[in-house]
Amino acid sequence: MTVRATLRGAERTPIEHPRADVLICGASFAGLAVARELAGSGADVLIVDRYEVGERQTSACAAPTPWLHAMGVEGSIRQEIPHMSFHTPHGSARYRLPWSWSSFDYRELCRLLFAQTDARFEIAKVERRDEHGHVVTDRGVLEAPEVVDALGWRRVLAADGYQPPEAPLSRGLEVHPDGGGTDLDVWVDRSLVRRGYCWSVPAEGEQRVGSGSYDPHQHVKEPTVELADRLGVDAIRYQGNWFPHTLRDAAEDGVYFVGDSAGHCFPLSGEGIRTAFYFGIACGRELRAVVEGAREPADALAAYRRFSAGHGKAFSRALRLQRLIPALPPRLLTVALKLIGAQPVVDRAFGWYLDQAPPAFASAQPEAGVHFSGSHSRP
Ligand SMILES: Cc1cc2nc3c(=O)[nH]c(=O)nc-3n(C[C@H](O)[C@H](O)[C@H](O)COP(=O)(O)OP(=O)(O)OC[C@H]3O[C@@H](n4cnc5c(N)ncnc54)[C@H](O)[C@@H]3O)c2cc1C
Repeated sequence: MTVRATLRGAERTPIEHPRADVLICGASFAGLAVARELAGSGADVLIVDRYEVGERQTSACAAPTPWLHAMGVEGSIRQEIPHMSFHTPHGSARYRLPWSWSSFDYRELCRLLFAQTDARFEIAKVERRDEHGHVVTDRGVLEAPEVVDALGWRRVLAADGYQPPEAPLSRGLEVHPDGGGTDLDVWVDRSLVRRGYCWSVPAEGEQRVGSGSYDPHQHVKEPTVELADRLGVDAIRYQGNWFPHTLRDAAEDGVYFVGDSAGHCFPLSGEGIRTAFYFGIACGRELRAVVEGAREPADALAAYRRFSAGHGKAFSRALRLQRLIPALPPRLLTVALKLIGAQPVVDRAFGWYLDQAPPAFASAQPEAGVHFSGSHSRP
């Protein structure tokens, strides 16, 4: 059984300084991206998570390489992956992308991100908000005028939590055997997953083999084991989670929701790391304007909410494809994948895809006082 670094029993003493200017709940991709944007603002930023920073990897940890450079976490890269291969029962198509993926080490990435913040960190399990809007944890009640929920799909600080399998969530599971490879392989094969896909992500000596189902009722252990078997690798070191495929309100009752808690995970691909960075940065910039006195708190929250909702079209388009592709006759899908493989088409399609949350956003500095008040405005 995996033992995770956390505080246990009597170690869970009340947090010493329970007041902060900004309280960020969740220390993964989204929460750390928010905190990074607040570094040097002078704000007292407190991050809480139920585990140590970087302790609990829940994804295959593949992200666009340009994003990892833009976030200053390229030191966590284990393998750069320039090609994707798509497989159906009737054939395969290999694409060279206009940009590459990289698999990375989760613990190291979180460490590098956290090092770019000047936030305090405490281990605590977040339970809910109380009637005063304070955050109740198993280590006492925390108070801050600005609160961020970056706690993942459970959206713990909202009035209406999600309960799988009835909620619009996908489910994913993977194993991490020793192995290798050169491509990010994707299988669209109903004999494995009826509505979803399987993957293999090489990570320098490790192979992250998994499956995801858009239908939360379908279990994903069987296809994961089956694919590992087909690939001749051991089904060991399991990890799994739910991931959202519907955008949700990014601001509710004075709280900022970022990453999976706001549904910031692309439907179809299930890619949620880049978007957690992207919306985390947007949220962090609004909060920075608040703590520096350049923006009223309510205006900043509303601007962030509009910014998130402004991406609705792209998310809806991806959701339509998520519904359409599993319904296509497999032979037709195979032909379509081969046609899309023409280099200009690959460049265009994957260029559009990256552009929905582009890496330039990480380094671009919005002009003073001009934040994200337009819908989907980019600096
Ligand atoms: C099997 C699988 C593979 C995936 N592979 C990829 C991939 O390769 N690339 C990609 O882009 N996306 C991938 N995803 C999606 C991606 O993992 C998520 O979209 C991403 O992790 C969202 O980041 P986040 O920071 O919003 O939430 P999370 O990464 O889920 O982080 C939430 C944080 O909150 C903490 N937390 C939760 N509840 C509490 C609580 N009550 N109290 C205190 N702390 C709490 C957790 O410990 C965690 O640190 C995958 C998902 C799955 C399930």
